[in-house]
Amino acid sequence: MHPHLISGSPTTHDDSDAMAPIGNLVNACIQCGTCTASCPNALEMDLTPRKMWRLVILGRLSDVMASRTFILCSDCYTCTLRCPRGLPLTRAMEALKGIAFARRETQHRRSRLFYETFMQTVRRYGRIREMAFMTRYFTAMKNPAEPFRFAPLGLKLMGKGKVEMGGGKSTEIPLAALFEKVAALERTPDKPLGKGG
Ligand code: SF4
Ligand code: SF4
Repeated sequence: MHPHLISGSPTTHDDSDAMAPIGNLVNACIQCGTCTASCPNALEMDLTPRKMWRLVILGRLSDVMASRTFILCSDCYTCTLRCPRGLPLTRAMEALKGIAFARRETQHRRSRLFYETFMQTVRRYGRIREMAFMTRYFTAMKNPAEPFRFAPLGLKLMGKGKVEMGGGKSTEIPLAALFEKVAALERTPDKPLGKGG
């Protein structure tokens, strides 16, 4: 459980402007807990989704940013489909990741670099290429110990023929235009929201 939820310490509106648009997405939350009960990843989260939405509404940015809850969201959309208030919870989770990555939050550096190098690999090859992806990721991490964390999983996957060896050629598919279109859409101010994410 998050320490501030236990202590009931006073709300601190720290830089809450960054989170205000997300608060608007979820401020009709009635704290029913359906999102928590529906989330397949909730057991691994330090804050349940229900508690995190409460902190978002209260504008407690630093408490939300300290949590791993939104990082562990796998975009399955179950909570979005089941929320009785019809709130776009998956979209809100993604928006929190965007804030954390834009702020270069230290505790989420590993996740940010994983996302970034994953997408760089897809952009270059048109699909994921495991060896090229992990090489990029380890280089970005600048931590010689990092490959050892992945060694057991990597060896297991290689033993099952699930890892493509070699970097492969760059894609001939013009994915740059697709990436630029998505970036432009992400810069577009939000439209009125429904369950679209
Ligand atoms: S399911 Fe919707 S209303 Fe219920 S706690 Fe979660 S966000 Fe709030
Ligand atoms: S979209 Fe994310 S938060 Fe919602 S149920 Fe799925 S994993 Fe959990």
